[in-house]
Amino acid sequence: MNFLFEFKNFITKKNVLNFDKVSFVHANNRGIPTPTKNMENGCGACSECESNCPTKAIQRSGSDRLDLDYGKCLQCGICVEVCPEGKLRNSGFIYTIALHREEFYTSYQNGKMEKNSQSNFTLSENQRQFRDLTKKRGFLYREVAAGGNNTVESELNASFNSVFDSEREGIRCVASPKHADTIVFSGPISEQMEGPLQTAWDVLSEPRALIACGTEAVSGGLFPKGKIPKEPDLYISGDPPRPDVILQGFRLLIGRFSFQFQEALHKFLESEK
Ligand code: SF4
Ligand code: SF4
Repeated sequence: MNFLFEFKNFITKKNVLNFDKVSFVHANNRGIPTPTKNMENGCGACSECESNCPTKAIQRSGSDRLDLDYGKCLQCGICVEVCPEGKLRNSGFIYTIALHREEFYTSYQNGKMEKNSQSNFTLSENQRQFRDLTKKRGFLYREVAAGGNNTVESELNASFNSVFDSEREGIRCVASPKHADTIVFSGPISEQMEGPLQTAWDVLSEPRALIACGTEAVSGGLFPKGKIPKEPDLYISGDPPRPDVILQGFRLLIGRFSFQFQEALHKFLESEK
């Protein structure tokens, strides 16, 4: 019987996510807000989106310009709901991952995305060394919950299930930072967690990487942001980000996935026209 069960498993099609085929746009997710075609002629002077955004991620200037910081955006959809003229939509674009914080600053003029002039980002020396070390073997991380609400931890847990299967990438969570290559932290870093986060960071040997996971970790989100040991090497925004977004972020950091937020978003918006 056991043999038959094993044999059945062997020939059954696996449900493991194929990272090469997965899309950065997901129909069942709100994703980040982007302008609709109606924005071509600018928009009214209502500023409802700006005043209702809980994290001040969206700012309107004049009648034709919108500035968004997707590192602050919770992907809550409120700005889309309150816009009286249907100028915003939930795009379904969920890959808010970047190696540099500036990549999330995005401006739209009459609904057209302006390429961020700083978008030619190169790897820092530390990011390059970390990539050299981990590209083949993956990495071990210690997770530090720095004042968050456990949603990021739930998604990190899910990244180990049989669908996402983090371990096939050689990416594992360990109990002690002494055994880790990386610290993944969530939450805005409350005052009480500044010390423990710094301590966990201090015991890692170099090259090491710091990963901000979730909108609160990237920007503070709804809260003031606490003190971080250093500028993170990887930013994964979203409140919380899905497990596949987290894993693609990890793969980006170690050089197994080629992705640049500004470029991908620009391409996506152009393809929709
Ligand atoms: S946080 Fe919510 S309201 Fe603010 S920009 Fe993002 S989706 Fe819109
Ligand atoms: S995008 Fe919508 S809510 Fe925001 S200022 Fe324009 S019309 Fe008002």
